[in-house]
Amino acid sequence: MKLNNLATFLLVVPLALASAVPKERKQTYNGYKTYKIATHNNPAEVRAKIAKFAAIPFNTRDDVHLDVAVPPEEIAAFEALGLETTVLSEDLGADIAEEGPLVAYESPVGVQAIPSLTWFNNYHAYADHITFFNDLQAAFPTQSEIFTVGKSFQGRDIFGIHIWGSGGKGSKPAIYFHGTVHAREWISAKVVEYLTYNLLTQYTNDTAVKAIRDAYDFYILPVVNPDGFVYSQTTTRLWRKNRQTRSGSTCVGTDINRNWPYKWELTGGASTDRCSETYKGLAAGDTPENQALVAFTQKLKNGKGIKFYVDWHSYGQYILLPYGYDCNARASNHAAQNTLAKNLAAEIQKSYGTRFTYGPSCSTLYKTTGSAPDYLTDVGGATYAWTIELRPTSSSSNGFVLPATQILPASIEQWNGLKYLLANI
Ligand SMILES: [Zn+2]
Repeated sequence: MKLNNLATFLLVVPLALASAVPKERKQTYNGYKTYKIATHNNPAEVRAKIAKFAAIPFNTRDDVHLDVAVPPEEIAAFEALGLETTVLSEDLGADIAEEGPLVAYESPVGVQAIPSLTWFNNYHAYADHITFFNDLQAAFPTQSEIFTVGKSFQGRDIFGIHIWGSGGKGSKPAIYFHGTVHAREWISAKVVEYLTYNLLTQYTNDTAVKAIRDAYDFYILPVVNPDGFVYSQTTTRLWRKNRQTRSGSTCVGTDINRNWPYKWELTGGASTDRCSETYKGLAAGDTPENQALVAFTQKLKNGKGIKFYVDWHSYGQYILLPYGYDCNARASNHAAQNTLAKNLAAEIQKSYGTRFTYGPSCSTLYKTTGSAPDYLTDVGGATYAWTIELRPTSSSSNGFVLPATQILPASIEQWNGLKYLLANI
């Protein structure tokens, strides 16, 4: 056993305890092989067979297939199970290496200097995301301000930027974005930051941008799960939930996007197992992150109202409309939403040929309860409230780990899509 494999071996835990990794050392995933396992509508049987392995499940919709990363020392035993598998990647560690190192950010020199676009060539540490946003805001002090909506479980500020146009601060309906509620979905922070960057820097040299800026107030929160995001950078790259501890359990973390106080009580769209990746919490809205986001959402609703909300996620390339809680439920303006999503997908595809699938969240992807778009639609009063699942495709080998070279194209295609969208709602 090679030394790096030995280190990995020492960190492995049974599947059921995957959320309770006690070590704070960084997990490398070197030699982890990733598989797509066919489940034939019986994922429980497959999950039971692999329960003794330290396999890490990737996807949450598992009726057709369950994607897992298997540590090197367990590959032989795993393959001996004879499951119906396809190899997605020979080495998850190599995929993560392709993602590149976290590069140090340097603030631009000069008063009101705009940060460099090189920000979008690499991934960065959480502290740099804060600095970048502050620098960006400082370059446009009369058109924007930084705000915080509250604190995370570990006490980090949940911050955002408010951008306004010619009508002045707070005069128009809200365009409202959340990024990175799921910690490991790093591309969502980058894409949200690229949209922010262009909304600010293109205002005076693109009439289409001026028009949308003057029509709406933008409220953009790039990382609404800062504790999980930091943990995914320092310790466990594939961490999803927040880092909330609860008495009586060694498992850490609640899925903030299964914790919204709307249809939370329904079954089948989240987990009551504290160790699960989709753990919903003990009560609706019992995560500090969700409480902060709910309060801010109510503030926007009671202000000029919410025109458009997007919760930015990865991966799979989906544009998901309401609802998540019921596969037969449709928003009252569903026909308009569906047409808009279809046209947005076509617009996104024009940039690099990337194909996005669109449709109601539950029937297109999977059932979710206590999710943000359902709350935003029925409680927050948003005209549109969507989830956008960014690159790569659902059949990708590396899933949440998108190479740094794809940050810009993944961002540019969304920016082109957004310009179309906001001119047509
Ligand atoms: Zn997600």
